[in-house]
Amino acid sequence: MNLQTTLQEKFGFEEFRPYQQEVCELAVAGRDLLLVMPTGAGKSLCYQLPGIVRGGTTLVISPLVALMEDQVYKLKKQGFRAERIHAGRDRAASRVVCVDYLQGQLDYLFIAPERLAVPGFLEMLAKRKPSLIAVDEAHCISEWGHDFRPEYRMLGQRLPELRPSPVIALTATATVKVQDDIVTQLGLKQEVRSIHGFRRSNLALEIVELNPSERTDAVAEILQSPERLPAIIYAPTRKDAEEQAKALKTWTKAEAYHAGLASETRERIQAQFLEDKIQVIVATIAFGMGIDKPNIRTVLHTALPSSVEGYYQEIGRAGRDGKPSRVILMHSYADRRTHEFFTNRDYPETELLKKLYLALPPLLGPANNPLKSSLLAKDVLQSQVGHFFKDELAFENAFQKLRIHGAIVLNGDGEVARSGRDWMKSYEAQRMHRVRQLEQIARFAESHQCRMVHLIKHFGDQEDGGRTCGLCDVCDPVNSLLKKERELSNDEKRYVERIVAVLREIDEMSTGKLFQAALAGVPIERRDFEYLVSGLARAEIVRLREDAFEKDGKVINYMRASLNQMWADSPSSSLFAAIKLNHRVRSGVKKKTVRKKSAGSVRKRSSTGKKSVSERFRNES
Ligand code: ADP
Ligand code: MG
Repeated sequence: MNLQTTLQEKFGFEEFRPYQQEVCELAVAGRDLLLVMPTGAGKSLCYQLPGIVRGGTTLVISPLVALMEDQVYKLKKQGFRAERIHAGRDRAASRVVCVDYLQGQLDYLFIAPERLAVPGFLEMLAKRKPSLIAVDEAHCISEWGHDFRPEYRMLGQRLPELRPSPVIALTATATVKVQDDIVTQLGLKQEVRSIHGFRRSNLALEIVELNPSERTDAVAEILQSPERLPAIIYAPTRKDAEEQAKALKTWTKAEAYHAGLASETRERIQAQFLEDKIQVIVATIAFGMGIDKPNIRTVLHTALPSSVEGYYQEIGRAGRDGKPSRVILMHSYADRRTHEFFTNRDYPETELLKKLYLALPPLLGPANNPLKSSLLAKDVLQSQVGHFFKDELAFENAFQKLRIHGAIVLNGDGEVARSGRDWMKSYEAQRMHRVRQLEQIARFAESHQCRMVHLIKHFGDQEDGGRTCGLCDVCDPVNSLLKKERELSNDEKRYVERIVAVLREIDEMSTGKLFQAALAGVPIERRDFEYLVSGLARAEIVRLREDAFEKDGKVINYMRASLNQMWADSPSSSLFAAIKLNHRVRSGVKKKTVRKKSAGSVRKRSSTGKKSVSERFRNES
């Protein structure tokens, strides 16, 4: 049966969505594939349909029981023979599924990656190899990120047993680096990468610097126009969500939504929002998974999100109906400090983890059945090394980090031993990744190129022509809602003259060197210099180009600046007239603290009682 008829007759869809057909053709032909498309694009069909056309069973690896149940339910409803095996099902049911599988009675079998570690299971599957293997949410395999699942990592070792079945990896969030990682880890061979659809042409993106204290008013200002509703506001903490919702409730139908609410409450609020009975949801990142409301006109972030990937997913909920929608991100430098504080808390220095690791007794006997007498109870361990940690939470966090990275053998009685595995490299990689994610979102917020183009590049969408969107605050500043422009101050005029004078003498130089050369001895901070340079870049007086170098095995990104020759001989007055600076507020953090102290000192301040970042923001959802 050909693809088109199978699509219509078996799946009940009129036509393919963009890219589905070519991906299906490749999968039917048995190619290994990496498919990256935004949530809701219809990735599942790209393995489901080829699976049917190829015949036999498609094995689907999925990270969440809820996802598996949902997919199996849908497939069964469409008349397919779909089953799943996971920890939530009883043995008898799972045994029946295995028998069905071996007899070739299944179109799809869904499993969690952990299942492959169960003795005998992989061998059972190998007796009748699947005709296609789909690895859903494949970014979980990469240690670069919050969704990292150690069991996914093991797939690289286990899948070869099931080859030569083609493997198709699917995900909605994979930067180029994660893509490479997925391909390597899963051992995809001569794979085709299909990376599409990150451009959203009905979204106007706006980014504005605002002090935290100014953001509530800004939200009200935006949402007072009824055509900007319904709206989702992403708040950084539960408390913040509650407070903002309270302020909004005085004049519109708004509710807070976060993981601290009872699940009935959450379901009710979500349902009311879907039915347009609530106009505004003020949520933490806990909200949105699986939300498919077409008419969301506005998505606001009232603080810097923690990654570009997360941000993209969240704004992706706006304008699903294709009508113009606006997404606005408010941030200030203080937000970045907050994230740094939490990164340091959640990803402690390797040295600290090492202390905990060394306190573990060495493993005696096999890892899945260690010698009882060699083990140490976890609470005893805690009493021995707890003093290295700030509090119980810090100990627990460190313990979990070690466990996730394979350093700890833990039995059902809460007894532990040292695994002997090398955990350090993988932990450090993950920690570095978190730091990089933070740099990336900060760079995004502070950049001066088209917002949409920046996102598309971030996701490695090669097919996109890179045309500017025409809608964001960079492309169309006049229509942005919050951004206000201003003229240069007298000081700034002097600085601009010095910057331009240096660039007249040289073809191109890094912005770091430019700062030194033009403004040494001038009482201006690097950050304020960058801000001026952004203004120069927007006026197209200065051209900026990203570059990178390697230091100690790490890639350091930086900017190089050059003078646009059109302005080479222009008098100062016309330069000044061309530059419009974004109206900007100073962050709440005092200048000196920002410059001199490390992120660690923020923690110190917070523990000395003064209400600070840790009080205002909690890394929770
Ligand atoms: P993803 O995994 O990319 O987030 P899904 O595979 O869950 O997206 O698909 C999202 C929705 O789109 C599902 O409800 C699915 O049934 C629907 N869908 C997928 N392909 C098509 C198609 N060709 N025509 C109509 N609807 C489709
Ligand atoms: Mg999916």
